[in-house]
Amino acid sequence: MRLLKKQPTMIKSLRISFFALSRSTDLEIKSETSINKIMNDFFFTFAKEIDYENKKISIEQLQKNTEDLRNRIDSIVQKYKSSNPIINQLNTYFNDLKNNESFFFLVNSSITNEQSFQLYNYLSTLENNEDFKKASKEMDELFGDLRNNYDIIAFNEGTRNKIGEPDKSKRVCRFCNRKYGEVTFRKVAHSISEALGNKKIITNDECDSCNEKFGTGIENDLILYLNLYRNVFGIKGKNGIPKLKGKNFEILNSGKSKIEIKYFLNEEEKNDPSFNDFKVRLETNQNIVIQNIYKTLAKYALSVLDNKYLCDFEKTIQWINHEFDSENLPKVAILTSYELFTHHPQLVVYRRKKTDNNLPYAVAEFRFIFLTFVFIIPFSSVDKLEYSNEDNFNEFWTFFKHYNSVEGWKFNKMNDTKPRKFTMNLNFELRNKE
Ligand SMILES: [Zn+2]
Repeated sequence: MRLLKKQPTMIKSLRISFFALSRSTDLEIKSETSINKIMNDFFFTFAKEIDYENKKISIEQLQKNTEDLRNRIDSIVQKYKSSNPIINQLNTYFNDLKNNESFFFLVNSSITNEQSFQLYNYLSTLENNEDFKKASKEMDELFGDLRNNYDIIAFNEGTRNKIGEPDKSKRVCRFCNRKYGEVTFRKVAHSISEALGNKKIITNDECDSCNEKFGTGIENDLILYLNLYRNVFGIKGKNGIPKLKGKNFEILNSGKSKIEIKYFLNEEEKNDPSFNDFKVRLETNQNIVIQNIYKTLAKYALSVLDNKYLCDFEKTIQWINHEFDSENLPKVAILTSYELFTHHPQLVVYRRKKTDNNLPYAVAEFRFIFLTFVFIIPFSSVDKLEYSNEDNFNEFWTFFKHYNSVEGWKFNKMNDTKPRKFTMNLNFELRNKE
């Protein structure tokens, strides 16, 4: 037996994670010389008690974002920001967090999906003043069966997010199967379009030509579909907040909490004395293909799956690559909920663990601002049933209790392959200017 010699190691990087309901973040601080000093300062900042006599610092992982804490954090930021500019992100993070919001403070630890699920539950029971044990039991009822049947992977701004082969020379593109050398991997491929505010979730093994093709193709249909929301909520893409201009309207969000909507009345509306309830129909100049929205959603999900499972989705990838369209797609469930507001797009993928099963092999959830899309990833070779069939779809939906226990879902057919002018209906309420 070989014994491992214990050697003193020099810590050169420090990974600090903050996990809260409203947002989570990771900070990797690197320093050749002063990492121990920085680490000490961090411990003192977040310490609950310092016992100088016994040289013990006690730090609680669960903390609150108080004004006092923010002041202490600011002093660390001021101290190190010139040598480690990344530390500035701390002030941004804690200023964005709600006052007194609870968060977890983790050092050099990577948490599994299961753990982050528990932390999330814990924080939400705290926020709602619930009993954690009781809430856990309810959670088990909602998720127990699901977790027995499915592996669940979640991606958001706080998870570790470089998916696929890190070594460029070994990469094979997951969407065209071409190797490094045949294709290039120079550009950063965002797993979810950057235009939707995704800065963090990156797919290593998507080649430049697929990246270009999706970016100028199917992804635009979803982006256009979500443009209004992007604009109103000021979600910044590569070129800032998009200006929206259509046939009969203009929307301008300066990013300074002022949104200007210009609506140009047509002749009929001008002559209509009852036209003051502001039900308007915005007509864009661009065409949109609804089936491409579904393709894009499925593409996002396949971008984050471990590439060893992609062999089960060959036909799905052909569909995404426009080798065929389909009139038999399962419906896509969409929920508008202001309680589920998210700053950064999020993606959850469920992959079935058991083989002998009538449930769909892969299901995904995409969240953007206050919209949640839940969809089956179609055409998997492992699926036995057609989920465009109403009964099969209902069986699936009944099984996903945490979704079907929420009211308000709309089930949309996304089969249409004809380019159509996209219109949005807006209802304004007239309010007194007081
Ligand atoms: Zn490719």
